Amino acid sequence: MFDNKDSKTNLSELGEFGLIEHLTRYVELHQNSTKTGIGDDAAVMHFENEEVILTTDMLVEGVHFDLAYMPLKHLGYKAVMVNLSDVYAMNAEATQITVSIAASNRFPVEALEELYAGILLACKNYKVDLVGGDTTSSTSGLVISISAIGKAEAKKITKRSGAKPNDLLVVTGDLGAAYMGLQVLEREKQVFKVNPNAQPDLEPYSYIVERQLKPEARKDIPQLLTALEVQPTSMIDISDGLSSEIIHLCKNSKTGANLFEEKIPLDPAVISVCEEFQIDSTMIALSGGEDYELLLTISQDDFDKIKGNPNLTVIGHMTEENEGMHLITRANQKIPIKARGWNSFEDEKDSE
Ligand code: ADP
Ligand code: MG
Repeated sequence: MFDNKDSKTNLSELGEFGLIEHLTRYVELHQNSTKTGIGDDAAVMHFENEEVILTTDMLVEGVHFDLAYMPLKHLGYKAVMVNLSDVYAMNAEATQITVSIAASNRFPVEALEELYAGILLACKNYKVDLVGGDTTSSTSGLVISISAIGKAEAKKITKRSGAKPNDLLVVTGDLGAAYMGLQVLEREKQVFKVNPNAQPDLEPYSYIVERQLKPEARKDIPQLLTALEVQPTSMIDISDGLSSEIIHLCKNSKTGANLFEEKIPLDPAVISVCEEFQIDSTMIALSGGEDYELLLTISQDDFDKIKGNPNLTVIGHMTEENEGMHLITRANQKIPIKARGWNSFEDEKDSE
């Protein structure tokens, strides 16, 4: 991907300080709360009357991403989204990030430029300031660790633990697309291995591939909830698939839940690619992951405020803890929700 011999600058040519300066030369600051950004021993921020949110995620080459089909610019963008999504899941606004990278000398300066192009685009689109980080060498591969800072009024902060029985279970957007996008990319990679001249036609899959390669975190949802005057009782972002996030909300809130299969929002592109791959689309929504949508609970009293909003779909409700967590299928079967891969989940369904 970055084997272009004409534009290969060895990392050692710039040195650590030169590299940091080079990668961060276009950083712009948008937030009033940023007092000192990159260039000092530490960043300085000031938040008035608000709680400060802090979250970190690490992405490791070969574990979380594969550069064979993940362009570095997309990787940079996605690495930021993963973190911002966690801030929005607290019903907060993301304000700053730090970015730490470890790269082996397999990566020329141009590759890291690509990575930073994605990171800086994400910062621009989401009005988040890059205020610091760390740069080091690695003996193998690429590691990216990003931390995000955010702010929220204390009364708005939404944890995983506040759901009550009878609260409505609500999801944003649609599910399963990122996972199916990955399946399509994996398939193309195999085709390419056999025939390096093959030109993949990803056009029919553009929505799902984009959801995998360029996910967008739901910055709009905390704003929408404020505008609708809805205070969620609990919230989490969907990084690992719907079933494991429902389990997190239930465990933390000490509730059970009923999820209705027919309510799960799926894009038509996901339904058709699931047919093509002969995979059950419900299982993909439950276990696919990486959609970066938000899963929240609201009081039934707030139903009228969200009714008909295209961003928010009611998919079930919370129950007493001793009732357990269940998927109610279209055939009106009740299946326990388990946080396993969809294969093992399907086995369970078969044995019911
Ligand atoms: P220190 O030796 O104090 O850790 P560094 O030389 O690592 O300082 O970093 C100098 C400045 O550059 C600091 O403001 C730091 O936050 C920032 N910085 C270092 N690496 C990165 C990076 N990969 N991305 C953004 N900022 C960085
Ligand atoms: Mg440092």
